[in-house]
Amino acid sequence: MPFSPQVHDNPRPVNFSQTRVAVVGGGPAGLMAAIQSAGSGAGTLLLEKMPRCGLKLRLTGKGRCNLTNTAGIEDFLAHFGEQGPFLRNAFHRFFNDDLRKLLEDLRVQTVVERGGRVFPVDDSASSIADALIRHATQSGAVIACNIRVKRIRAVPDSGFFLDMEKPDGRLYSCRAEAVILATGGLSYPGTGSSGDGYGFAGSLGHSIVPLKPALVPLVTEGKRARRLQGLSLKNVKMTLRVGNRERTWLGEMLFTHFGLSGPIVLSASRYAVEGLDSGKTVTLSFDLKPALDDRKLDARILRELSGHGRQQWKNLLKKLIPLRLVPLCCEETHIDETKPCHQVTAEDRKALRHWLKHFSFQIVGHRGWDEAIVTSGGVRLSEVTPNTLESKTSAGLYVAGELLDLQADTGGYNLQAAFSTGWLAGRAAAEKTSGKTVDL
Ligand SMILES: Cc1cc2nc3c(=O)[nH]c(=O)nc-3n(C[C@H](O)[C@H](O)[C@H](O)COP(=O)(O)OP(=O)(O)OC[C@H]3O[C@@H](n4cnc5c(N)ncnc54)[C@H](O)[C@@H]3O)c2cc1C
Repeated sequence: MPFSPQVHDNPRPVNFSQTRVAVVGGGPAGLMAAIQSAGSGAGTLLLEKMPRCGLKLRLTGKGRCNLTNTAGIEDFLAHFGEQGPFLRNAFHRFFNDDLRKLLEDLRVQTVVERGGRVFPVDDSASSIADALIRHATQSGAVIACNIRVKRIRAVPDSGFFLDMEKPDGRLYSCRAEAVILATGGLSYPGTGSSGDGYGFAGSLGHSIVPLKPALVPLVTEGKRARRLQGLSLKNVKMTLRVGNRERTWLGEMLFTHFGLSGPIVLSASRYAVEGLDSGKTVTLSFDLKPALDDRKLDARILRELSGHGRQQWKNLLKKLIPLRLVPLCCEETHIDETKPCHQVTAEDRKALRHWLKHFSFQIVGHRGWDEAIVTSGGVRLSEVTPNTLESKTSAGLYVAGELLDLQADTGGYNLQAAFSTGWLAGRAAAEKTSGKTVDL
């Protein structure tokens, strides 16, 4: 029997007679899913609750969009921690080069920067969002913005019924053979990602791994960080201690009015948040001279001291650390900043070496959802088939993007995961509803 889903606008029905696949959410995962589903020949309706698609995508990479990374698959997967292997299928089918090629075909050139991070040449995240929206429409997808999906019901042998609402309160309903959930996580709720998908997935039989802010700035005890607000330190080695467990990162961090942020702090934050939630003591310690061991560091200090006997200690310190760190360093090492260099003792040098190698902060909290870059937790991966992204609890339901229990470090990994899972879910849903084989 031919399938003829409808979107009803009471009292006037709007007929999307070709719709077979409904995609809920117009972020990177949903847009890519709609492109692939429609491009594979399935009538596709994309439903987005905000006035336009890709609001969060337009903010990514400080408006420049770090869309992917040039790392190889194994390296890429490692950035997702224990959940990484789930993505292997999706990445084998659509990966970083495929994404860049697709964007080039859409006339969005990309460029590789430090650490393999890929950005659009014009530094505009909106170019990417707009190109994907255009491509989705050209592929035949119908995009309906300002429509919030409120409820999804699975009806045996009839697919799914979706209840929807317009901002003015008008209600709609729609039937679809397959539904792709791409509603994102909970971070930056102002962009539309307010967690609706967890409720849909839960009502269709899924369990949700507890949700926590990830890639989120951390709050430190006391006012030390505040004094350094705005200062960033590059090439530092950072050690996170949660209880007895230690993990290290190398890179750049930033002091803020509440504590610590910057790439390596954000990457460490998911472990810090877990530790805080389980009541463990969490500290971050910075080695400001990671390339020098204790002996070499002492030799370097002695070199600076020699020949500068009348100079004040603080002037020597300026050669070793950023100027803004000098007063704090003097206070915490208990060395008078005006002390002449010829009076500096072996004890003083030892205190300085220890401070430079163990500049530590106790972590007492984290910032909220409106500052978290991604969501940790989500639809449990063991309930989703990795090579199609179809739900194991509700046939014809697919899950893509940040809604899944996946989160990675900064560097373009999260967006690639959204694009790759959207790609795979779109193709698989089209194949399922057509009964034909689509090239997965
Ligand atoms: C400030 C910031 C910067 C970032 N920068 C980067 C970066 O440079 N590189 C990187 O890899 N990652 C970055 N990320 C992470 C990345 O943006 C996300 O991982 C990615 O957007 C997830 O894509 P998604 O499609 O799964 O979800 P989203 O982008 O969250 O899209 C979900 C969509 O679903 C819609 N929706 C939700 N509920 C409903 C409903 N009930 N009905 C209809 N529509 C609904 C929402 O309005 C939204 O448009 C950044 C995140 C933030 C917040």
